[in-house]
Amino acid sequence: MTFLVLMGPPGAGKSTQAKVLAERLGVPAISTGDIFRAHVAEGTELGREAQRYLDAGEYVPDEVTNAMVRERLGADDAQSGFVLDGYPRTLEQVAVLDGLFAEVDGGLDAVVVLEVDLDELVQRLLHRAELEHRTDDTEDVVRRRLQVYAEQTDPVIEVYRERGLVIPVDGTGGVSEVSRRILQVADALLRRNR
Ligand code: AMP
Repeated sequence: MTFLVLMGPPGAGKSTQAKVLAERLGVPAISTGDIFRAHVAEGTELGREAQRYLDAGEYVPDEVTNAMVRERLGADDAQSGFVLDGYPRTLEQVAVLDGLFAEVDGGLDAVVVLEVDLDELVQRLLHRAELEHRTDDTEDVVRRRLQVYAEQTDPVIEVYRERGLVIPVDGTGGVSEVSRRILQVADALLRRNR
């Protein structure tokens, strides 16, 4: 049973590393960004509601995001652990996640934070824009996403740091280098939870 949150600014390599971490721990990686993008692609009502926020680099309103996460974390595969990728991102979302854990009498094991400096992030995001054509990777939107992260999500990291849950991981360098650091964290958590 390992319940983790993986945090890091846009471009830190969160979704790649969430999958690495989740696979090693044998739990699902749950990405709110992926769920939103899937809804947008399928043209569901939630997708139509979320799209303008994604395109502008703004957060989808808490009410919408929290409802979606509540439902996803209620699924069978999430009962014995998960790696949350991209949630919680606001203090209100932290409170909702706390509430979900209160119902099951447990808590988060750790919050892994990928750390990458600003210059490297901007370079990576603009490079990704060329490769993937994500509508939210243009320069203006990239800057906005980094700003929103600093305003709304840095305080979330602070709260978890005060609770002693944060495990910082150096997110600079190549993907395999970062994965190696992530796997060391996963193995330490497995030993701790054994
Ligand atoms: P990501 O793939 O994690 O960078 O997420 C892409 C976009 O999805 C974000 O820029 C937001 O518009 C939206 N999103 C993902 N997770 C959340 C969240 N926890 N709260 C609000 N919006 C989110």
